[in-house]
Amino acid sequence: MTVPQRRVGVLVLAAALAVALLAMLAPAPPAVAVPVSPAPADDHTAFFPDGTLAGSGWSACPGITWTVDARRLPDGIERREIRRLAAAVGQWAEASGLDIRFAGEEPLSYDASRYLLVPRGTPRERHVYLAFLAPRHAPLLASPVVGLGNPSHVIAETRQIVGGVAVFRSGFVADASGRDPDRLRNLYLHEFGHVLGLGHARTTANVMYPTIDQRVRLGLGDRSGARSLVRPCTVAQ
Ligand SMILES: [Zn+2]
Repeated sequence: MTVPQRRVGVLVLAAALAVALLAMLAPAPPAVAVPVSPAPADDHTAFFPDGTLAGSGWSACPGITWTVDARRLPDGIERREIRRLAAAVGQWAEASGLDIRFAGEEPLSYDASRYLLVPRGTPRERHVYLAFLAPRHAPLLASPVVGLGNPSHVIAETRQIVGGVAVFRSGFVADASGRDPDRLRNLYLHEFGHVLGLGHARTTANVMYPTIDQRVRLGLGDRSGARSLVRPCTVAQ
């Protein structure tokens, strides 16, 4: 299969506000009375609910890849956290049917003005960049935010998402790695859901609920949301 030839990599995030409002995951859940609970399987939203990018999704063509920069994690936990990330990505791959493969570690720098992780070489297409960062690298990761995720590139004409980025606060991950791993599993699932193009869910039954908890499996709404993001693989992709 080919990757998109028309490199219209439109930066998706129309405004910083979109990221700040949509993609933050705070560690301390407030006391929430959920107003109107949708049916569990319908409890999902799109990262781009309206506007020109509404309806954006990933092509089902094989070969979506992801890499991670784990250099800022303390020695000894990188392998474990990469395995947890891979497990989270694997759940989304299974739920969506998308072919998403780990392509190794690589050094990435964070462009805080564009919410992008930037590799040293040519950026890949149909690729997701992940990194563990301190707030001094990614100011939006200041407490209480522990993760940010979003689609990063969309081909405007076809509304095909061809890139994504997620970052995790390294200090939080280091603290929770040994004593509270389910919160990290939840964090990874949540942010990768944003990468794929999901917004927030309204009930705690789904990992896309906006505050972190110990849910470590996708809910029915997450799963139907994942399926809703997949577009047929065509030659024109
Ligand atoms: Zn979120």
